[in-house]
Amino acid sequence: AGVTAPHKAAAAKFPKADWLKGLEDMVSTSVANVALGFPEEAVQMEHQGTGFVISRNSDFSITACTWTNKKWPSTTPEGKVLLRAYVGKAGDESVVEQSDNEMVKIVLDDLRRIMKIDGEPEMTCITRWHEAMPQYHVGHKKRMKEIREGLQASYPGVFMTGASFE
Ligand SMILES: Cc1cc2nc3c(=O)[nH]c(=O)nc-3n(C[C@H](O)[C@H](O)[C@H](O)COP(=O)(O)OP(=O)(O)OC[C@H]3O[C@@H](n4cnc5c(N)ncnc54)[C@H](O)[C@@H]3O)c2cc1C
Repeated sequence: AGVTAPHKAAAAKFPKADWLKGLEDMVSTSVANVALGFPEEAVQMEHQGTGFVISRNSDFSITACTWTNKKWPSTTPEGKVLLRAYVGKAGDESVVEQSDNEMVKIVLDDLRRIMKIDGEPEMTCITRWHEAMPQYHVGHKKRMKEIREGLQASYPGVFMTGASFE
């Protein structure tokens, strides 16, 4: 059998398992996707590639942007550009709780520092993913070994898998 829930939900199913306690302190950060649609002529994307990531040490709120219409052309109508930016990172998640309007403004201000974008988006779509990104601590591999061994000893045939674990 497989358990694929996030680690806190998985651990709750095995309350007596000491070998799962190592994951109790592991936090998952919240992130949001901010998709912005523009007419083709409003956005200049001269660089090759399908998007970019931002260093966590920078003063940007966005962590990355996918030029979605380039990466997956079928997502976007002809003549349009679809930008999908991401906000929210360990230590700086408050942006995820901003209003939709505020979040769009924050993302656009950041994007305009990097790319030429005229005017406002024709469409926006924001998706918040609360506690979605498990943050591994030093020692994670050792804890995984303990969990594997604990499962093997107490619940042979049961496996845990997913982003919280591997
Ligand atoms: C915005 C965003 C963008 C990402 N982009 C990429 C990407 O481009 N490439 C990439 O490789 N990865 C990406 N990731 C990471 C990747 O999506 C995740 O690591 C992956 O989906 C995690 O899979 P999972 O099965 O571990 O968890 P999830 O897909 O989160 O599945 C966990 C499941 O457990 C369920 N659950 C929760 N609580 C319980 C409970 N108590 N009982 C039973 N079930 C429960 C949930 O409903 C959910 O269905 C992204 C993640 C996010 C949030």
